[in-house]
Amino acid sequence: MEKVVIIGSGPAGWTAALYAARAQLAPLLLTGKQPGGLLTTTSIIENFPGFPEGVDGYELMTRMQQQAERFGSKTRFGVVESIDFSQRPFTLVVDGEKVVSETIIIATGASHKHIGVPGEHELETKGVTYCATCDGALPVFRNQPLVVVGGGDSACEEAMYLTRFASEVYLVHRRDTLRASKIMAERTLAHTKIKPIWDSVVTEVLDVKQDKVTGVKLKNLKTGEEKILPCAGVFIAIGHMPNTDLFKGKITTDENGFVVPQEGTMTNIPGVFVSGDCADHVYRQAITAAGTGCAAAIDAERFLAAENQ
Ligand code: NAP
Repeated sequence: MEKVVIIGSGPAGWTAALYAARAQLAPLLLTGKQPGGLLTTTSIIENFPGFPEGVDGYELMTRMQQQAERFGSKTRFGVVESIDFSQRPFTLVVDGEKVVSETIIIATGASHKHIGVPGEHELETKGVTYCATCDGALPVFRNQPLVVVGGGDSACEEAMYLTRFASEVYLVHRRDTLRASKIMAERTLAHTKIKPIWDSVVTEVLDVKQDKVTGVKLKNLKTGEEKILPCAGVFIAIGHMPNTDLFKGKITTDENGFVVPQEGTMTNIPGVFVSGDCADHVYRQAITAAGTGCAAAIDAERFLAAENQ
């Protein structure tokens, strides 16, 4: 039986693993289907303290894993299929095998949101993507006009990254100001290849018949005007939704599915703790996820210690 099982391998998961390992709890971390989480798909991270030159997302996550493993954290590449919170110890089924644990730290993070317009789903991987770092360099996007949807830091980051490959990048945003941090917004709008299209939404991705992206239908929300903008790719960066389907109905969440901790990082189920973006719709930073991962491990350690006294 495990003392601590951590579900998820983003900054929250690895930091929880580091702290639980140093508390000699030999935690087992289950990576999920995207080891390292969403940060592995980002390019340079410039706001994680301790890296004045910035750090590659994949490298940061690999270093976190190595640090946790150095102190005895165990890693298992696998996806949790089901979980039973009804009695302790808790039972999880991971790729068909049972894992039993005294405590659980949920660190499952969040996934990309979809815009939900015709053509988006049909043309996914055929020009519609949610990750410029993963797909931006593909030959099909080189020297072509590309569209980025969104107005936050992610959209700015995607647009900036795509300027390396695209002939121009249209940043389609539903309002007339960016939500992104000031420094990112200024850098983005100053770039000669980036052309903002304000107050507008994509209403359809074209062209399903040709089985590839040839353009988008745009609608100006203020004037109602509609037009077609030719492009070879659509990069959607409109935020995230929590990866909490596994816990639906089993644990307290808010109406958007974010887990709601009750006391510190402990959920409504004693012995189950939560950390990172699956419980955070406000800050959603690598460093805040790491911070709550640390807190969850300390809470789990104290919970186990109190029981053993
Ligand atoms: P976000 O800040 O929530 O921004 C989402 C953007 O998408 C908003 O501009 C929003 O419009 C727009 N949007 C949402 N739903 C839409 C829809 N259905 N159709 C069209 N547009 C839609 O998400 P994010 O940019 O992914 O950032 C998430 C967090 O991560 C933030 O805290 C951000 O600071 C952080 N982050 C930091 C960095 C960095 O510092 N390097 C990089 C990426 C992300 P409205 O503005 O109208 O709401």
